[in-house]
Amino acid sequence: MDFKKMTIKEIREGIGKKDFSAVELTDFYLSQIKQKEKDIDAFLQIDIEGAKKQAKAIDEKIAKGEELGGLAGVPCAIKDAIMVNGLNCTSGSRILENYKAVYDATCVANLKKQDAIILGKTNMDEFAMGSSTEHSAFKATKNPLDLKRVPGGSSGGSAACVASGEAVFALGSDTGGSIRQPASFCGVVGLKPTYGAVSRYGLIAFASSLDQIGPMAKNVEDCEEVFKAIAGIDSKDATSVASDKLKVQSAKLKVEELKIGIPKEFFGEGLELKTKEIIEDKIKKLEKAGAQIIDISLPASSYALACYYILATCEASANLARFDGVRYGKSSKAKDLFSDYAKTRGEGFGDEVKRRIMLGTFALSSGYYDAYYTKAKKVQALIKKDFENAFEKCDFILTPTSPFPAFNIAEKINDPLKMYLSDIYTVPVNLAGVPALSMPAGFDKGLPVGLQIIGKHFSDLDILQLAKLVEKST
Ligand code: GLN
Repeated sequence: MDFKKMTIKEIREGIGKKDFSAVELTDFYLSQIKQKEKDIDAFLQIDIEGAKKQAKAIDEKIAKGEELGGLAGVPCAIKDAIMVNGLNCTSGSRILENYKAVYDATCVANLKKQDAIILGKTNMDEFAMGSSTEHSAFKATKNPLDLKRVPGGSSGGSAACVASGEAVFALGSDTGGSIRQPASFCGVVGLKPTYGAVSRYGLIAFASSLDQIGPMAKNVEDCEEVFKAIAGIDSKDATSVASDKLKVQSAKLKVEELKIGIPKEFFGEGLELKTKEIIEDKIKKLEKAGAQIIDISLPASSYALACYYILATCEASANLARFDGVRYGKSSKAKDLFSDYAKTRGEGFGDEVKRRIMLGTFALSSGYYDAYYTKAKKVQALIKKDFENAFEKCDFILTPTSPFPAFNIAEKINDPLKMYLSDIYTVPVNLAGVPALSMPAGFDKGLPVGLQIIGKHFSDLDILQLAKLVEKST
């Protein structure tokens, strides 16, 4: 039995038919973790006992002939910014080093309802701020395809554990690209759902108006299975919407009827030649298959990075105010309450997080608010408008996910601006709130290159459909 290659559907069927048990499969994945973790460092916590217990419970359900959930027995991993009851939840930060979740995030509860098995929590850039997972307070995750390189970030642990075969799928979160960019670097599929499609209850907030939780998997079909399990309305997240909003046009999607927009701003300066060629080759293949390729423009996207790094830092500075040494996690004592706060935060936050809190606090401060925050909100409106205009002309937009493949460990860590440039093609999507997926499109010297498919609001299932077509044509 080759567990490594099995899709979610195959696992569910195999378990249902008793070809193998959930315990056998879970043991296999735990042994993969044991073998590979010393090189990859994808996990912050491995819940061996918990996973075995869950697997046993699934097998008992099967023995009793009870109905199984859609993810029955499928071993998965959860980004450490998302609460899993009873497990640590550090968000990659010292300030939450000993914090244990006391409830399940809604997406995790949904996975459990579908009988998925949670293997553990994955490494990430501290509070999801970063593009390489090197900003984790605990360790740097390595790219399974080249151990000298980063897996991308901030959901680097989630991408790496799927790419290395340590988990069947993983959950990540994406505020400016943190699902798609690591998916692209590790050669897996990652979906950033429409803002509101998946409940964020139980996700440690970075920038609440941009944060979304989404699936990362080996292939598009698995990604879809997981997305369907976690999408939907939740009374605990006021921004969530009912899943019937997700228009299912799937059956109708025919290549010959598709209009695909190619934004010129995403193919210019800064894009590596080989990456460009791989993406253009994919576009040509779709054209050959009958799709209509249309040149479009998203003119405001040149301001997206600046706009994002103002809005995201402003929101982060407010969200992270709650880590004060009184309510959660680390608590350092000094001479009075105010110095307690300063000491706890001074010791508990890493440099990148401090940089963002300071930037955000500055941009929101009296006298600067209008010049920075209000201005950035206006630019965001232009970016949204660009996408609306574009989607009057086309059904989907195709771009590279990142301007370059996975870079070397330590290559960009001391130059925040260079690091921020990794997100140039992903942040406009979060600012507009639309869904986008990254999928493997080819290799540059053995390193995967990701294709980004962007769709209209709530076209998540259609994006997955198109991604399947692209996957088939490769
Ligand atoms: N890399 C981007 C940042 O550092 C995006 C992170 C994310 O999506 N969480 O902010």
